[in-house]
Amino acid sequence: MKVRRMEKRLSLMEKLAIPEILKGLSITFRNMFRPKVTRQYPEERYEAPIALKGQPLLVENEDGTPRCVACSMCEVVCPAMAITIKAEETERYIEREPEEFSIDMLRCILCGLCEEVCPKEAIIMSDRYELANFTRESLVFHKDRLMTPIKELEGRIRFTKEKFDKWHR
Ligand code: SF4
Ligand code: SF4
Repeated sequence: MKVRRMEKRLSLMEKLAIPEILKGLSITFRNMFRPKVTRQYPEERYEAPIALKGQPLLVENEDGTPRCVACSMCEVVCPAMAITIKAEETERYIEREPEEFSIDMLRCILCGLCEEVCPKEAIIMSDRYELANFTRESLVFHKDRLMTPIKELEGRIRFTKEKFDKWHR
C-alpha cells in the first residue's frame, strides 16, 4: 500500500527562523533597560545580612579570656567532625576553658549547629564568607585565629538570643 506523506511547506520567513530571531531580540532589548542584577564582586562588596552563617568564631570576653567553658557540646554535635577541643582547668570561676580549639574549615559545612547548641554563646557564626586559601593547613583555624572580641560579634549574639530563645527562658 502506498503511504502518502503530509509535508508542511515552510515559508521563506520560517526557513530563515525570522519570527524566533525577532522574539529573541525583543527579549534582549527589554532586558537591556532593566536594573542590573549582576554584582561586580570583589569590587562591589556584599553586605552580609545578620542571618548569614559564615565562619564560626569564638567569643573573646572584654578582659581577653575565652567565653567557652570547653563543655564539648559543639564538638559532639558537629556533623562534619570539624571541631577539635582540648580542655584545661582554669582558676577562673568557669573552671574549664579550651587549651586548644580548632575548626577545620575544609570540613565545616557552615550548618550553625555548634552555635545553636552552645550553652554560653561562646561560638558564633560570623559574617565572614571569604574562606578560600591555597593550602589545607591555612584553612584549619586554631584558637588564636578564632578568638574574636565580643564587640565585633554583638549583633549576631543578639540575633541568636532571639532566634534560640529556648536557652533564655
Ligand atoms: S558550622 Fe556546623 S559543620 Fe561547621 S563547625 Fe559548626 S557544627 Fe561543625
Ligand atoms: S564553644 Fe560552647 S559548646 Fe563549644 S565547647 Fe565552648 S562552651 Fe561548649
